[in-house]
Amino acid sequence: QAKSQGRGRHVFFDVDLREKMQRRLQLEQDLREAAANEQLSVVYQPIADLRSGRVVCVEALLRWTHPIHGAISPAEFIPLAEESDLINLVGDHVLRTTTGQAALVRSRIGASCHLAVNLSPRQLDDPRLVARPCRSPGRTTGIAPNTLCLEITENALMRDPAVAAGTLSALRDIGVRLAIDDFGTGYSSLAQLRKLPIDQLKIDMSFISALGECRDAEAIVRSIVMMAHAVNLTVVAEGVENARQLDVLRRLDCDQVQGFRIGKPTSPDRLPIGQPSTAGR
Ligand code: C2E
Ligand code: MG
Ligand code: MG
Ligand code: MG
Repeated sequence: QAKSQGRGRHVFFDVDLREKMQRRLQLEQDLREAAANEQLSVVYQPIADLRSGRVVCVEALLRWTHPIHGAISPAEFIPLAEESDLINLVGDHVLRTTTGQAALVRSRIGASCHLAVNLSPRQLDDPRLVARPCRSPGRTTGIAPNTLCLEITENALMRDPAVAAGTLSALRDIGVRLAIDDFGTGYSSLAQLRKLPIDQLKIDMSFISALGECRDAEAIVRSIVMMAHAVNLTVVAEGVENARQLDVLRRLDCDQVQGFRIGKPTSPDRLPIGQPSTAGR
């Protein structure tokens, strides 16, 4: 009986799987051309200091406008790129674009604004790839490494902790700041993470969305903030959408906030000029 059930399911699975595979293959092919054809762009989302309300950093988020399918989410095409060598091409493109636009971003947000860029696991394999956009001593091109923050997920670090530690240390040595993205969704402990040269934890949006709706969420966020502060990490809350979440986060002593309530991801030429964020109020 189990066998016939399994077989029935198999048929549906096949059709579904074939469509998915076709789209994947097509997108993978198209992505190869996308960078050259100016279909990739970078938008920037503000991150504000919760006490002063000032925007202290912007996160670079990749966008792909496909000629037929329109906007495709990075949540769909980044995993695709990660399964092939494409991720190095795409990652390099993001780093180059972001460093090229850094001056424009700062002319609007403020001269001391940091830039945060997301890294894929495979980008950690080659420290030079990541360090390349950084300004080397005596040169004027590139971004000053101490104004660059790189975001990495827990799982990316745990893929090969020794290699990750090597790359992170090399980056840290030149002054780059390092953040753990989507914290709380992976399988690592703060004890493991503490061995790595990191500066910041970004609490995953799922915990922030539940604030004010579920008492457990508040307890979890409170303990993350306390643990992080105990080992000298700053804490960013991701996905802050309303004033109530902002109030709770302030009460829990969170350091920085990011989310639609503060600002949506925006192309660099449309970033508000010297805007006061809603976080300080
Ligand atoms: P992430 O790094 O955790 O980025 C935060 C995501 O949450 C972004 O989605 C952002 O638009 C969204 N977001 C921010 N505030 C809010 C909010 O208040 N409410 C809601 N509902 N969403 C909010 P996006 O841009 O679609 O990116 C998704 C993920 O794709 C990113 O998650 C990151 O993991 C990955 N990604 C994006 N750009 C890059 C890139 O250049 N390189 C790599 N390796 N990954 C990237
Ligand atoms: Mg991120
Ligand atoms: Mg995140
Ligand atoms: Mg995420």
